[in-house]
Amino acid sequence: MNKDKIMTDYPQLEQVINLTPTLWLNPNYREQRTNKSTIDFNDILDAEKRLKRFAPFIMEAFPETKDANGIIESELRAIPAMQDYIKQNYNSDFSGKLYLKMDSHLPIAGSVKARGGIYEVLKHTEELALEHGLLTKEDNYNQLNTEKAKEFFSNYKIQVGSTGNLGLSIGIISAKIGYQVIVHMSSDAKQWKKDLLRTKGVKVIEYEDDYNAAVANGRKESDADEYSYFIDDENSIDLFLGYAVAALRLKKQLEEKNVTVDSANPLFVYIPCGVGGAPGGISYGLKEVFGDDVHCFFVEPCPAPAMLVGMATGKHNAIDVKDIGLSGLTIADGLAVSRPSKLVGKLMESRLSGIFTADDNNLENYLKALLKTENIFIEPSAAASFAGIINKNNYAKLQNYLEKQQLINKIKNATHIAWATGGKLVPAEIKADLSN
Ligand SMILES: *Cc1c(COP(=O)(O)O)cnc(C)c1O
Repeated sequence: MNKDKIMTDYPQLEQVINLTPTLWLNPNYREQRTNKSTIDFNDILDAEKRLKRFAPFIMEAFPETKDANGIIESELRAIPAMQDYIKQNYNSDFSGKLYLKMDSHLPIAGSVKARGGIYEVLKHTEELALEHGLLTKEDNYNQLNTEKAKEFFSNYKIQVGSTGNLGLSIGIISAKIGYQVIVHMSSDAKQWKKDLLRTKGVKVIEYEDDYNAAVANGRKESDADEYSYFIDDENSIDLFLGYAVAALRLKKQLEEKNVTVDSANPLFVYIPCGVGGAPGGISYGLKEVFGDDVHCFFVEPCPAPAMLVGMATGKHNAIDVKDIGLSGLTIADGLAVSRPSKLVGKLMESRLSGIFTADDNNLENYLKALLKTENIFIEPSAAASFAGIINKNNYAKLQNYLEKQQLINKIKNATHIAWATGGKLVPAEIKADLSN
């Protein structure tokens, strides 16, 4: 693909190409409502039911989930001190109330990947177990937590390509069930993530190439092995559905906190985006639950705005950020993706409000601010969510959006959620490095 031609054809990408932090508003938002989608609300409910069937197993296999009865969920927490800090230090006088969705602290995998990744492994496990008579849907699924079951699953393989966190999530759950696991890790993956997986008996294959190459090779190796199942971060509907369940849980949490979301009280979410599956699945679920009352924004690093470039050009996975001269390299390792998921881009076409890009140099500042004000540690990828919140008032474009969506008089009642996507498993010495 020719960079100059892209510049001429898509002048709106000028700032993206120049690495200037920006906001892209989706021109197709709400324009294609009648498009029939492959996914409907019942699929999300079905995923939620499957997770409930597995809860007795999860509770036993991962004692940290005991208090939540085996449901893997994170806290929604008001962060008033961070909100004050943003007002004072970033001259961003936004009204409404700021919350943090703490997927950074999800049990088992310590990142948003504990939603999609674990769900897809469980779905595959249920299929195998039902097919081979290990289980019926009425059984207590904790019987998968036996030597006999583990021996059965040790005949099967799970493979995945990852920048790190998906590998962690899939590796940990798969090893617990008894599978052989192979994680294909891109060059961006942090050493500690590879080390942690190896201690769990996971085979880690390292690539000098980027994420998309690790996925492509993993897919190829897995497809050549009939006992192997590939978790396809770029194309998986199951992964997507696992993420979408978050919306059902968030609805309940907002109700418990007496936070109203309706046409007079809009909800804004800001979710860091890599290949698109996690923010896409969550947003899709939120649109199913809250419809036009929720406004979903993704945040991508300036050097790796894969989804923005894919959606703005309509080329989706046929364009790579390297085609427009960007590196794809970022300290936000979970977002170091240069080519987006087409599946997700298509599903977001009429549902996504827009995408912010974040300067790498600011991510550590956001991370430190949250630590100082609220004593919560999140990883740099997760800190990208604040780039949306902090900068939104700097973009005149956002005013146009608010006008068009008739939100000018309602914005003072808005609830804003920064979706913190990872952090808990970061080792202490790396946390200390990032925090000082
Ligand atoms: C994977 C990841 C994301 C983005 O998810 P995608 O499905 O790749 O878009 C965001 N934050 C963190 C910490 C992640 O690990």
